Amino acid sequence: MSEIKTRCLIIGSGPAGYTAAIYTSRANIAPLVIEGQQPGGQLTITTEVENFPSHPNGITGPQLMEDIRSQALRFGADIRSGLVTEVDFSNRPFKVKTNTGLDISADTVIISTGASARYLGLPDEQKYSGLGVSACATCDGFFYRKKRVAVVGGGDTACEEALYLSNLASEVYLIVRKPYLRASKVMQERVLNKSNIKVLFNTNTAGLYGEEYLEGAHLVENVGTEDERRYDIAIDGFFLAIGHNPNTEVFRQYIECDESGYVKVKGASTHTNIPGVFAAGDVADPSYRQAITAAGMGCKAALDVERYLGEQGL
Ligand code: NDP
Repeated sequence: MSEIKTRCLIIGSGPAGYTAAIYTSRANIAPLVIEGQQPGGQLTITTEVENFPSHPNGITGPQLMEDIRSQALRFGADIRSGLVTEVDFSNRPFKVKTNTGLDISADTVIISTGASARYLGLPDEQKYSGLGVSACATCDGFFYRKKRVAVVGGGDTACEEALYLSNLASEVYLIVRKPYLRASKVMQERVLNKSNIKVLFNTNTAGLYGEEYLEGAHLVENVGTEDERRYDIAIDGFFLAIGHNPNTEVFRQYIECDESGYVKVKGASTHTNIPGVFAAGDVADPSYRQAITAAGMGCKAALDVERYLGEQGL
């Protein structure tokens, strides 16, 4: 087992982690980045990214992440593959282990492990991933102008995404498994009053179909009752909005999280409840969840680390 000492360990490699790596490298902190299960993060499973500033013609998600990674490497960041399996934040320096056999001793840690969108678990979701199935309306909605789409979920995210899509698509189905929406009253009202959003209550998705691209969904209304009814809707886009799971499991023993598992940060900073441990990106942000906001928070975490190291004389 090899042991590594670092002044800053960055866990996770989405826009937050890589941006933190650029800033800490340029500040001569020589960070170590452990990339995690999905190097490059959620953007590596999207296609075109058209809303990240400085790419007037758009860029693919994987290319954008490769570019940010190269930028961090250019300034000397030590980027390694591996998954963090164990942390000990009870003593300083902090101790972290990876599944690749690294034993890391770190003066500071930036948690940027992201959040994973929840899927229904249908095999068809994989089949049409990037071909009509998406978990981010803000990212992919633009490709469905004047087309028909469906959003799954009954919470604030689903309502927000349905409203966003209703300004682009010709028709939006909101597929809700219960007889009511869980979203806030104001969002419910907006959705119910929007003429091109059709809310399908008591409805589940049984499957998706289409030759090459998505062409429709098989739905079941009133599952398991006398009134059960199966029918299809023709759609070009199928958006999941049934929540996200922040990737905080390994830190829970030490780091304060909210009831949904998102890391709590202090005010507008990236400080967690443990001095010297910071959090950035989707893992600490249930509401914005954009590549650009994650990158911005990664920058803030790097500056917080720099200040902390200075204050502690490390
Ligand atoms: P929520 O957990 O609030 O809602 C998830 C929705 O998905 C629920 O309607 C749930 O149904 C449904 N769902 C879950 N699993 C399945 C499944 N397997 N099949 C079908 N439907 C399913 O998640 P959100 O992402 O909407 O919101 C997360 C948090 O962020 C909330 O606190 C929310 O208020 C907040 N938020 C606030 C916003 C704002 O203020 N602008 C915008 C977006 C989010 P059921 O009700 O049956 O459990």
